[in-house]
Amino acid sequence: MPRKKQFKSESKRLLDLMINSIYTHKEIFLRELISNASDAIDKYYFKHAGHVDTSTFEIRLDPDKENRTLTISDNGIGMDADELEENLGTIAKSGSLAFKEQMEKKEENTDADVDIIGQFGVGFYSAFMVAKSVTVVSKKDGADTAYKWVSQGDDGYFITESDKEDRGTTIILALKEDTDDEDYSQYLETYTLENLVKKYSDYIRYPIKMEVETQKVKEETKDQEKPEYETVVEDKTLNSMVPLWKRQKSQITKEEYDQFYKDHFQDFQDPQRVIHFSVEGNVSFTALLYIPGRVPMGFYQQDYKKGLQLYSRGVFIMDHAEELLPDYLRFVKGLVDSQDLSLNISREMLQHDNQLKLIAKRIEKKVLSELNAMMSKERDEYEKFWNNFGLNIKFGVYNNWGMDKDKLENLLMFYTSHEQKLATLNEYVDRMKEDQKSIYYVSGSDMTLIDKMPIVQTLKNKGYEVIYLLDDVDEFVMQTLQTFREKTFKNATQGDLDLDSEDEKKELEQTAQDNKELLDFMKESLKDRVVDVKVSNKLSDDPVCLSAGEGVSFEMEKVFANAPE
Ligand code: ADP
Ligand code: MG
Repeated sequence: MPRKKQFKSESKRLLDLMINSIYTHKEIFLRELISNASDAIDKYYFKHAGHVDTSTFEIRLDPDKENRTLTISDNGIGMDADELEENLGTIAKSGSLAFKEQMEKKEENTDADVDIIGQFGVGFYSAFMVAKSVTVVSKKDGADTAYKWVSQGDDGYFITESDKEDRGTTIILALKEDTDDEDYSQYLETYTLENLVKKYSDYIRYPIKMEVETQKVKEETKDQEKPEYETVVEDKTLNSMVPLWKRQKSQITKEEYDQFYKDHFQDFQDPQRVIHFSVEGNVSFTALLYIPGRVPMGFYQQDYKKGLQLYSRGVFIMDHAEELLPDYLRFVKGLVDSQDLSLNISREMLQHDNQLKLIAKRIEKKVLSELNAMMSKERDEYEKFWNNFGLNIKFGVYNNWGMDKDKLENLLMFYTSHEQKLATLNEYVDRMKEDQKSIYYVSGSDMTLIDKMPIVQTLKNKGYEVIYLLDDVDEFVMQTLQTFREKTFKNATQGDLDLDSEDEKKELEQTAQDNKELLDFMKESLKDRVVDVKVSNKLSDDPVCLSAGEGVSFEMEKVFANAPE
């Protein structure tokens, strides 16, 4: 009997945590073992510099209901005794502390939907979430002897010599007994296994095969009017192997892109736009992004989750990776696949974060350039986009105070007095009259009301365009921007607009002097309710108007008054 070896102490504690944790995604053990198998085949392939017959590569699933075992095998590089010891007897130290902390946090907060295992690359051990005992039989490429590693996941493992004909690794999971809460037998059902492979490992490059029962027409009856069927057991490849995003853009139809979107992102309507691109360099990745064709369900609710799906070499890692999208692009759906995100436990988390940041920057840039192109080349499409998601862009300007506001200002649109249509700020400035000093805006709840305001009439009579601010956030956007193409934004209902020529000013002064008594009388009568009473050229058809001073406008006062505490 070989001596039982102990797990390294740190590893053992982690193992306990993992096995006994209330980790909700027990099913991901399959993804982890399949991706290890795929890695092992990669390693074999690279070791032989590609001079091998790739057609024999395969990963196999073999559920055995009688013995209550699930076997996962591959014909990859295999492991010798030392490697079994090293790879399966220790959890690499560097990341393990962080992992442990996350695990403990997770126990306090079960809602946190973080993929701990994927994040820390302790994949193999996830087998113990569903298995009471794990047996690994492996034969290293080129070796004569095979070895067997067996563990109950408690405190140690045995390694002994074993029999195995061909190179590669076979992992046998003796599944736990079912409990009231947990159905482990499901992992013996071909149906469940097929679904799990589709869900997590569809894009693994090597075929994942399993014997499945199918109904087939009996050969000798196939010409009969009513052919007979029989149940046959056949090998079936469960994964499609080539991810859509890894295929040539020119080879992908709009229907395929749209279908993929609808299958993966909980929408039954086609997306408005597909953005599919690859980046090579410091960090390499492929992104497949979608701009939805409508506002997503629950978009304005607190629990709406932004973010992109994250894949590493075709293996699904997590949903809603928030770091990949700035807030103002939270409507973007899609995925990122990067081979640079090797989710190895030896990686420092920080480094991992930096990679994500680099990717996020490129994504932001790409989406913005697509939107700019849409605006200049497909105006109708852009207006459709703007109606769905313009509010987000406005919040983007407002929340990014000062910081590269120019990256978003060109995307803004507002309704204006020019044909009561949406206009960009560039269009507004292009149409400005020569003597016009500022960009004028007025806030209000609807365009007809704003249009009736005396100052709006005056500005329009002068041939000046007025921007209608209809959303609460709009005025804050103007305050954040301050200027556009060196023109100042000015609230037309506030302060002195300085619209008059020198002659007009003189005339006005004269009128004020001539009517001094009247004005003083009015001011006296209105007492504290007004700061001043003035004669003005601002009015064209109306006898009188109220005007706010500099600072907070009437409309902003309303917003503040309505704001929740
Ligand atoms: P990771 O895959 O992130 O390295 P795992 O815990 O999943 O972490 O696996 C630990 C190590 O065990 C792997 O790095 C690999 O060296 C080895 N290993 C696991 N499964 C296999 C396999 N099927 N064939 C060969 N080596 C394997
Ligand atoms: Mg792994």
